[in-house]
Amino acid sequence: MITRLSDRIWLVEGGKGGRYPCAHSLYVRDGGGYLVDAGSDAAEIERLRREEGIAAVVMTHYHEDHFPFLALLPDTEVWSSTADAPALESLETLLAWYGVPGTEWEAFYRNLFAEKFPFTPRKVARKIADGEELRFGDTRAIAVVAPGHTPGHLCLHFPDDGILFLGDYDLTEFGPWYGDAPCGIGEFRRSAQRLAGIAAEVFVVSHEGPVHRGPIAGKMDAYLAVIDRREESLREFLREPRTRGGIISRRLIYGPGHDGPWFDYGEWALLSKHLSGMIARGEASFRKGAYSLTR
Ligand SMILES: [Zn+2]
Repeated sequence: MITRLSDRIWLVEGGKGGRYPCAHSLYVRDGGGYLVDAGSDAAEIERLRREEGIAAVVMTHYHEDHFPFLALLPDTEVWSSTADAPALESLETLLAWYGVPGTEWEAFYRNLFAEKFPFTPRKVARKIADGEELRFGDTRAIAVVAPGHTPGHLCLHFPDDGILFLGDYDLTEFGPWYGDAPCGIGEFRRSAQRLAGIAAEVFVVSHEGPVHRGPIAGKMDAYLAVIDRREESLREFLREPRTRGGIISRRLIYGPGHDGPWFDYGEWALLSKHLSGMIARGEASFRKGAYSLTR
């Protein structure tokens, strides 16, 4: 389904209400047509291509739920931030930034990118830096590169339309993702606060309810508070020494009933960031194969 956010900026709602594995897209109906992300709705994207035109696809980042329908546009230019481009251009970089090479999840992810989310490397035709002004015809957007979710997660601020596309700084109840190998909690928080401080009227996210009317400072604080709750439940669990396997299977993040390698990976990707922070601050230690609190 397509909703008009303004004359020239349209929202292409993702399937499943925008829940994973779907993600909302934007479409800028100007300058030949620009699609932002390709994980929303194959039929709508195909119709836009045919009836309106798509001159380029602007990728907010390289995650699998944002690229599935890029395959429908094999000859269309792809744009992304300079920092995220290497993972769109190479499967090995993509896997490395998910942090899976050499882990028990490598085979699972190689298969995921071959079968469920087929990944075809794309040359990034335009690499975008933070603060750069993009012109889509007469429509102006400022690039806001927000590291933390991925190293170069690209948000787009359309100052003349009062719209900010936040991508996966998505304000969902699940909370933030900062589990990619080159990313971390501190960067995620800084980027989220910066985004919440941008004076837009309408904030659009990639998942679940797509449109949030500003200001969003309160919503962003609630979203970031999930990070603190995760750390608190991990701290509680580490009152006794726990192995890596024990921490993963406790399902502190996803809760019980979420089985399999995708969730195993997610638990460790996120909780390992908390553990390294706690160890660096002297709050936890790793001894004889187990993590525990030091005080
Ligand atoms: Zn993502």
